[in-house]
Amino acid sequence: MSEMIAIEKKVLSENDRLAAEIRSRLHAEKIPAINLVSSPGAGKTTLLEKTLAALKTKINIGLIAGDVQTENDAQRLLAAGGFWVKPIITGGACHLDARMVSTALSGAPLDAIDLLIIENVGNLVCPSSYDLGEEMKVVLLSTAEGDDKPLKYPAMFRRAGILVLTKIDLVGLSDFDMDRAQANALRINPDLQVMRLSCRSGDGMQQWFDWLQQLAGR
Ligand code: MG
Ligand code: ZN
Repeated sequence: MSEMIAIEKKVLSENDRLAAEIRSRLHAEKIPAINLVSSPGAGKTTLLEKTLAALKTKINIGLIAGDVQTENDAQRLLAAGGFWVKPIITGGACHLDARMVSTALSGAPLDAIDLLIIENVGNLVCPSSYDLGEEMKVVLLSTAEGDDKPLKYPAMFRRAGILVLTKIDLVGLSDFDMDRAQANALRINPDLQVMRLSCRSGDGMQQWFDWLQQLAGR
């Protein structure tokens, strides 16, 4: 085994250990957690803004917003009425790891949080390798991207429980084919649940809200 691979294995096993700690802590507090992943610009923050607008009076959603630089997303989520929003600036790292999440959670009002959503750094590659203690990864793919992305970044789609096709109001403006994208994703992961929605038109949003409310047990 090369030295690089040995180091990477060590980092990941330490990450898995911390993620398991986070998971058992969240289980003890009965807080389901999802890890929202996508390439940059797929609409993670916008989806969360709409989610807060629809659900903030029904469930207390705790949010961790990861970005390489700036707290812009965290500010947007606070402005949208986020109950508890914690920014993580990775300062160059292209993914969140369990240590960052563990630190972010240290001051969190866990008693009052019904659901935790972690917005990962926009990147379809390494966030797939880093368990953050979540119940499920939710991967977003926008219709402004290529419909072959699931084939190009299979690990992410294999490890996700839900695929959300976003920006469906743009269908027809490019060659993106929703059925083809979905078929590609299901080839990689036949168990993937697929939702299609548009934050702009509102189409398909209710299914997402219902799913989150069910997850939060309300
Ligand atoms: Mg964002
Ligand atoms: Zn990375």
